[in-house]
Amino acid sequence: MSDEKNIYAVSACLLGENCKYNGSNNKNDKVIEFLRGKEYITICPEMSGGLPCPRDPSEIVITGGIRKVMSKTGADVTENFRLGAEYELNRAMKKGCTHAILKSRSPSCGIGRVYDGTFSGTVTDGHGISAEMFINSGIECVTEEDL
Ligand code: SF4
Repeated sequence: MSDEKNIYAVSACLLGENCKYNGSNNKNDKVIEFLRGKEYITICPEMSGGLPCPRDPSEIVITGGIRKVMSKTGADVTENFRLGAEYELNRAMKKGCTHAILKSRSPSCGIGRVYDGTFSGTVTDGHGISAEMFINSGIECVTEEDL
């Protein structure tokens, strides 16, 4: 992660952008310091997928082998998540991003562990919708907790 030729895609909320579901952010000083002098773009797939801010929190739910993203109030936002992920991946590929630093546990950006669909703060194995697309496209992805 120290190669200066790397180009990063970074979850915007980690850099203090108020794009989190509750209108706040996940500003992380370690991420900000890490990116100093490096080339990067910010991404927020949920907002790029047309969801408002603030918005209802959403989590990945797997029922009968089918993966959906549902809001806490029961709206199916799977298509928003998918469209936003495709949009941000396209931006990252055009920019030549080699790496991504993504917000842990998010149903969009989480890597390896995500909230389990019960809205109880419990996590389970799996990637967020965008993180999975980024990983499958060969972008080296970590969360802010891995730095
Ligand atoms: S979609 Fe990703 S970048 Fe946007 S608020 Fe959620 S975790 Fe942050």
